[in-house]
Amino acid sequence: MPHLPKVVTEPSEILQIVRAAQREGKRVGLVPTMGALHQGHLSLVESACESCDITIVTIFVNPTQFAPGEDFEKYTRKLVSGLANVDDVGADIVFAPNTDEIYRQGHSTYVEPPAVSLPLEGKCRPGHFQGVATIVLKLFLMIPADVAFFGRKDYQQTLVIRRMVADLNVPMEIVVCPTVREPDGLAMSSRNAYLSSEERQRSLAIANSLQKAQQLYADGEKSASSVLTEMRRILEKAGIDRIDYVALVDPETLVDREDLTEPTVALIAAYVGATRLIDNQPL
Ligand code: AMP
Repeated sequence: MPHLPKVVTEPSEILQIVRAAQREGKRVGLVPTMGALHQGHLSLVESACESCDITIVTIFVNPTQFAPGEDFEKYTRKLVSGLANVDDVGADIVFAPNTDEIYRQGHSTYVEPPAVSLPLEGKCRPGHFQGVATIVLKLFLMIPADVAFFGRKDYQQTLVIRRMVADLNVPMEIVVCPTVREPDGLAMSSRNAYLSSEERQRSLAIANSLQKAQQLYADGEKSASSVLTEMRRILEKAGIDRIDYVALVDPETLVDREDLTEPTVALIAAYVGATRLIDNQPL
């Protein structure tokens, strides 16, 4: 028998459920998503279920983290059609609020995201992390769970959330889970569904480029610029349409590394056709 989650749309109802569970001493886990659930999301749910008594998955495509001209409309239309596939997620509760309920008439308060939001995605997607920080804090207030689970796939996002939680004394434990990949290495992403089969093939260069960086690092290469050159070469050879960034940075501050003498994270953002993909690899 599949384990069917209870679907809740009202913030007042989800708050009551969380408080009642916590009064009984239950540990509540939260997994925020934008729907279009895939195995990457499900791995977060599995981690939550392992360590929590109740797991809540939220599905909300947050308009404030998409800039004008980005794929908000397409995302909502193509990927999150209703609540399809949540029956199998294994969560106890799915919270799927309406946009009007989350951003009520006259909403004008936003979280100023921490400094770690400024490079990389912050440069390429101005306003993105303000939208992310705002919705994540709002979800944490609507659903005051004990612990929230995020994927390392969105590496900079995990740093932004950890820093925000520390800076604003938010009483939420943050757990970061490993990136789930397709058998050939492509990081799972809702946006992979936009790729044509030819683009899907080319997109592999992103994971290959990160793997090459890891291999060069493991072999003792100390020059960041040599590794970056090799990473770009792999992307360009595969015909990746536009590279937003290829970076080797400090895992905490995201400051560019010159020498690879300490732990480093490699990150890539690039377009394959019209689809923007991101991925990363700790070295
Ligand atoms: P999204 O629906 O894209 O906003 O993602 C919701 C959560 O799932 C975020 O914490 C993501 O980092 C995480 N996630 C997305 N893709 C993956 C993946 N391939 N592996 C692990 N976590 C992921």
